[in-house]
Amino acid sequence: MTKKIVPIHKLGISGAAVNHDAVYVIEKLHKHNFDGYIVGGGIRDILLGKTPKDFDIVTNATPEQVRKIFKRNALIIGKRFKIVHVIFDNINPEKIINNRPLIERHIIEISTYRSSKVHKHNLNERGRITEDNNYGTQKEDAFRRDFTINSLYYDPINEIVIDYTGGLDDIEQRKIRIIGNAEERYIEDPVRLLRAIRLATKLELDIDQNTLAPLDKVKQLLVHENKSRLYEEMLKILLSGSAVSCIKKLYQIKLPRRVFLLFDKLFFTNKPDTLAVKILEKTDARLKETTDISLIFILAGLMWNLIYNDWQEFLLTGLSPFEALNESILQNREYIYSIGVAKYTFSAMRDVWLMQLDFESPPSPRQIDAMLRIPRFRQAWHLFSARHEVEQIDSTLHSWWERFIESNAEDRDELHKELRTLVGSSVKTATKSRSNSKRRKPKK
Ligand code: ATP
Ligand code: MG
Repeated sequence: MTKKIVPIHKLGISGAAVNHDAVYVIEKLHKHNFDGYIVGGGIRDILLGKTPKDFDIVTNATPEQVRKIFKRNALIIGKRFKIVHVIFDNINPEKIINNRPLIERHIIEISTYRSSKVHKHNLNERGRITEDNNYGTQKEDAFRRDFTINSLYYDPINEIVIDYTGGLDDIEQRKIRIIGNAEERYIEDPVRLLRAIRLATKLELDIDQNTLAPLDKVKQLLVHENKSRLYEEMLKILLSGSAVSCIKKLYQIKLPRRVFLLFDKLFFTNKPDTLAVKILEKTDARLKETTDISLIFILAGLMWNLIYNDWQEFLLTGLSPFEALNESILQNREYIYSIGVAKYTFSAMRDVWLMQLDFESPPSPRQIDAMLRIPRFRQAWHLFSARHEVEQIDSTLHSWWERFIESNAEDRDELHKELRTLVGSSVKTATKSRSNSKRRKPKK
């Protein structure tokens, strides 16, 4: 394959599609006599007519040299391969909070060209790369990347795209093609298989025959993959905007059990969890409109039925609704950690789950006012609504909350009166017998 340098006007794209922070970073690298290119999803998505999620940059400067250029705004991260995060705190005059414009943090990731040489001592017993801090040329870097469409280098200042691997042709043919020998590349890093499937569904591309050929052999390797890497990959699937079709595809290729513990439990069974499917559908639909999405809502929603089913069991043992819900959350804690969920994420999910009890048996007007101020209120409300859609919640009660949330302060007295008659009458809640027992902190 020969190197191709193509001016962007020949590709039907314009420089305007690039984020200004990314352009600023590249200009600054140029000023210090280094090169700088947008690579990966940033240019791939523009060429496919989509809006990129982020703009990663590569350069011939080492991480230490990059840090010197961007000084306090740069942070070197990563062990297996060092990269630099350049942090921008941008003022958004359109979003005012407490009379001040919102400051939005934007991070640009800069990596140094990778070398084609991987030392033997940096491979584990299965041939997987474990450490990788050798720097190389742009060409070497190009052949280290996973797919040809992810291996294009875009210089927004000189308005050219550089292609070493045939990525531009594959963009045109809408094909995902692995670079080099497929089996070897998957043995080096089996997660590439998951990436191929996710990118194919998200971008509606075909996976090339050769790229897919070693599938059955490689998918077994994923079982040994690092847990936190798989968790990251699971989040990328959930946030891809096409989670439903991606998970279907994983099911079709018969991904082995234990790769995604959560998907095994929710979807890869005879009876997929209908609420979890609903949460994914809602997330996919929302991501078509906005990037403003809550991971806590998604995870808390996906796992709600695990909590709910145990909650119902604990209620039968005579515990108060709060105690039973709390016990159920504790009972599922280890499983949730085993998926890769961090402690602080779990704690936020717990808030969303505990608030379901308040939605089901609304507390006093004063407590409801306090509830509205809890930071997780919106996520908890969206979960309550999704539960209503799968008929886990009485419609009268849901409609009361809907009207309450939309009402002004003046109308709320009337609504509280209405609620008292509702609770006294026909509304069925899982926790009708809610006791007045004080809420206690969960056992550690
Ligand atoms: P997304 O839109 O999901 O961000 P992306 O392709 O930009 O897609 P990243 O994880 O941000 O995905 O990776 C950036 C680039 O790094 C990729 O486009 C690819 O060139 C390279 N890359 C990422 N993961 C691998 C991998 N496992 N093996 C080889 N190259 C990789
Ligand atoms: Mg990316």
